Amino acid sequence: MLILGGTTEASAIARALAGDARFQAVLSLAGRTRAPVLPPIPWRSGGFGGAEGLAAYLRTEGVQALVDATHPYAARISHNAVLAAAAAGVPHLAVLRPAWSAQPGDRWTAVPSMDAAAAALGPLPRRVLLTVGQQELAPFLAAPWHRYLIRSVEPPPPALLPPGARILTARGPFTEADEHRLLVGKQIEVLVTKNSGGTATAAKLAAARALGVEVVMVARPPVPPGTVPDAEAALAWLHQLATERGA
Ligand code: NAP
Repeated sequence: MLILGGTTEASAIARALAGDARFQAVLSLAGRTRAPVLPPIPWRSGGFGGAEGLAAYLRTEGVQALVDATHPYAARISHNAVLAAAAAGVPHLAVLRPAWSAQPGDRWTAVPSMDAAAAALGPLPRRVLLTVGQQELAPFLAAPWHRYLIRSVEPPPPALLPPGARILTARGPFTEADEHRLLVGKQIEVLVTKNSGGTATAAKLAAARALGVEVVMVARPPVPPGTVPDAEAALAWLHQLATERGA
C-alpha cells in the first residue's frame, strides 16, 4: 500500500503498520523539507508526475490500497490521488482532520485565499505573525509595510520574504505557554494561519484568544471524496481491506 504523507497522521499510520506482516507499506513525501522526520517503514520522496504518473506508480508497484494522508491544504496531490486511484482501480481513502472552529472570545477574520489574507491586514503597519508555510509567502510581498515574523520548519527562500521580515524556524507541537510568550514577546497584533486543524499547532489560537489578538484564518480548499477524520479510522479501513482479502 502507498501512504501519501507529510503529516502527523501519515507518520502515525506508518508507525502503526511497521512490523505488521499483513502490510507492505511505503510512505511518500513531497520532498519539500530538507530534513524530514523519517518513518520506520520504506519511504520515497518527490512528485510522481501528476495523476498519470501516480497511476503508473500504483500499477507498476502493484499497490492495493492508497491512503492520502496529506495536509488539508495539499489540494493538488489529493485531487491527483482520486484520479490515479480510479484510473488504476485501487481503493482510495483520504484522511482529513477536522477544521478548527471559532470559540467564544476569538477574533477571527475568515478569508478565502492567501491573497485575501494579505489584503485583510489593512493599510496601516501592523506586527504580524505568519504561520502559513514557506510556500505561501509571496502574497505578502504586496503588503510590505507590515512587520512580519515568519515561523516555518525551515528558512523560506529569501526571494519570498517581505522587506525586514524576521524568521523563526521551529517545528511543532507548540504549547499554549510558548505561544503566549511568543505573541507577547514579539508584540504580535495579528496572526495569519491556515485552518490546518489538529492539536500540534492549535495552541497559537488559544494564546491569541487569551490575548485578544486578531487571527486571519485562510479557508480550506475543497474536500476530496471518501474522507475519514484521523489515523485510527484509516487503520480500521486498512484492517478491513486486509480481512476481506484474507491477509
Ligand atoms: P500540493 O500542492 O497538493 O502538491 C503539489 C505537488 O507536489 C503534487 O502535484 C505532487 O507532484 C507533489 N506532492 C505533494 N505531496 C506529495 C507526496 N506526499 N508525495 C509525493 N509527491 C507529492 O502539495 P503541497 O501543499 O505543496 O504539500 C507538499 C507536502 O507538504 C505534502 O506532503 C503535504 O502533506 C505537506 N504539507 C503541506 C502543507 C500545506 O499547508 N500545504 C502543510 C504541512 C505539510 P506530482 O504532481 O509531480 O506528483
